Amino acid sequence: MVKIGVLSLQGSVEEHLAMLKRLPEVEGLPVKNKQALETVDGIILPGGESTAIGKLLQIFSLKEPLQKRIAEGMPVWGTCAGMILLAKHIVGEEACLGTMDITVRRNSFGRQIDSFSVTAPVEGIGIIPLVFIRAPWAESADSPEVQVLCKVKGHIVAARQRNMLATAYHPELTENTAMHRYFAAMCRQTQGAI
Ligand code: GLN
Repeated sequence: MVKIGVLSLQGSVEEHLAMLKRLPEVEGLPVKNKQALETVDGIILPGGESTAIGKLLQIFSLKEPLQKRIAEGMPVWGTCAGMILLAKHIVGEEACLGTMDITVRRNSFGRQIDSFSVTAPVEGIGIIPLVFIRAPWAESADSPEVQVLCKVKGHIVAARQRNMLATAYHPELTENTAMHRYFAAMCRQTQGAI
């Protein structure tokens, strides 16, 4: 059994927990404090509003503990706003967790009304439906360690750097569990070792 937390401050928390429930040998649990963070093998940072989640991370004293666990190798997956939280650089703004060597641009695909879905191949995962809602994209991968997993309209929308996975889209808003299974495999690999 692998324990996967979902940061539960704001955003698409329930949707991620529902996806995790569908996976065998996976226990999903909401993470709202440091104690819960210590018990998980990996964590998902959901989509939502990155500015709000960033402020709540400070208020709930979770920012430093999260940065520490990520630096120690705990698998983390940021979806949409979560990808923004992970980025070392945000165009025109201060970084939040700043752990992943990518530069992101917020709301780059347009406004809420410009939300869209496509089907595209994601490296190591397959062809899956991708849902974009006021999504960012990564302008650049800033280290050779960053592996680009998917591009849409010529822009980076999925990337991995060691224990960090970032997607600009929302797999939790589709029926397809492939990305969640991929992340669960990352968590299984490091389980007990970190
Ligand atoms: N536009 C949001 C932000 O900048 C992200 C949107 C989302 O997570 N769906 O934080």
